[in-house]
Amino acid sequence: MKTINQFSFKNKKALIRVDFNVPLDENFEITDTSRIDATIPTIKKVLKDGGSVILMSHLGRPKGGPEDKFSLKHLLKYLSSALKLEVQFVNDCIGEEAKQKAVNLKNREVLLLENLRFYKEETAGDEDFSKKLASLGDAYINDAFGTAHRAHASTAIIAKYFPENKMFGYIMNDEITNINKVMVDPRRPFTAILGGAKVSGKVEVITNLLDKVDNLIIGGGMMFTFIKALGGNIGNSLVEESLFALAVDTINFAKDENVNLYLPTDAIIADGFSNDAKTTVSSSYNIPDGWMGLDIGPETIKKYKSIIEDSTTILWNGPMGVFEMSNFENGTKDIALAVAKATKKGAYSLIGGGDSVAAINKYHLKDQVSYISTGGGAMLEYIEGKILPGIQAIEE
Ligand code: AMP
Repeated sequence: MKTINQFSFKNKKALIRVDFNVPLDENFEITDTSRIDATIPTIKKVLKDGGSVILMSHLGRPKGGPEDKFSLKHLLKYLSSALKLEVQFVNDCIGEEAKQKAVNLKNREVLLLENLRFYKEETAGDEDFSKKLASLGDAYINDAFGTAHRAHASTAIIAKYFPENKMFGYIMNDEITNINKVMVDPRRPFTAILGGAKVSGKVEVITNLLDKVDNLIIGGGMMFTFIKALGGNIGNSLVEESLFALAVDTINFAKDENVNLYLPTDAIIADGFSNDAKTTVSSSYNIPDGWMGLDIGPETIKKYKSIIEDSTTILWNGPMGVFEMSNFENGTKDIALAVAKATKKGAYSLIGGGDSVAAINKYHLKDQVSYISTGGGAMLEYIEGKILPGIQAIEE
């Protein structure tokens, strides 16, 4: 893999695509700085070598023109304090001023460009726009794993202007290395835990995992599509009827591949989608009308915990229930604790996808799992076996 460690940035201007798409509150204060914090080592490596850094990122979903609430200037104060230097800013990512500021940038200085998505050319992967961005630097570093599955101007198209000087930053390198630990020759037994609201969007993930894992554990809203497809009564639980045939195919494919596919045998059901609703434990195959399953039940938790704790490689994507509500968080919480326990015993655990990461953070288990992927969508596409444009552009 081409990484920044094989390169000296002395007297070079490194153009780094970062993922600074951080959440801001109504006063434009950053409510979670982890994406910025994660990029600091890559930036520091360039500065330490004696080079300068030009940072480019998107923030939010602007409609295609400048919008103050999506300006990267809101990040300047925090970024400067994290780097312990005064970061410069230009309020347009291309154009004369950007060019001048880039030219005048001295070694060990950092320049932040305005939001790339103020130009619709960014997401369109426009050639001319990519070329203009490329003209600002001598080397290109992609360290934005969260957008690696997109063929945008700054994530993929730009790379061709740096045939010899394009490489992965530390985040990209870590992401690829860690995901490969589960996808290429994992230690066995390998258990994948999939949850979240829906099966759709995860079909390819399931299919690609089935010839790799020993155990596939299913929870969350998606379990009910499988259970109903098998003839169960699921009451008013979440269901995707158009996926019944696919659910049955998946179950049969798992049998052919000798994969143990586990579906919850019991569920916490409620008479409404609310933390105040009446709740009870039910067989997940026999939920009365008017009730819906919002978490996995105690018998399932016990079974899943024992499988997870006996695993050596674990991949977790998606909560087991509506963990945002305290009455339906036990499944997710206990599974998170089991993943941490297995990790302590020596297992390798990879967590990905916004909601499972949120769950790990909620239960303060961040330091008790092996790796937390920063890019939910990108990670899923990588696990589907797809070639990510952001990775391909550097490697080819
Ligand atoms: P996803 O974005 O597909 O990973 O889904 C995450 C969301 O699924 C979370 O907000 C959960 O509250 C929700 N979820 C998990 N289990 C259920 C369930 N049984 N019924 C409805 N929503 C669920």
